[in-house]
Amino acid sequence: MDTIARDLLRDFHRHGIRVEVLPDRFRLNPSGIAPEPLRLALRDYGDEVAALLALLPSPNRCKVCGEPSRSPVGPDNHCVACALIVADRRGWTVLPVQHERAA
Ligand SMILES: [Zn+2]
Repeated sequence: MDTIARDLLRDFHRHGIRVEVLPDRFRLNPSGIAPEPLRLALRDYGDEVAALLALLPSPNRCKVCGEPSRSPVGPDNHCVACALIVADRRGWTVLPVQHERAA
């Protein structure tokens, strides 16, 4: 159940949109810029997204998508996937980690 909600929240994040739960509906911040398919998906999976957002913020979850973390991520931190989305949005180049292989 978590996965679809997490993917959806990441998709909104990719568009720079934050999803908030109000008592009777969702609020998108900023409003009016979400593509139609995303808004329809949020309607279809609203219960899942609301359940996930109810867990946030949490010291052990990404603040955007709720991905659990083994160590506290802090209130302003993202999981790797969400951090990469932020980097991509800002046009940063993220180089793959080079692993030294023992000879
Ligand atoms: Zn995340």
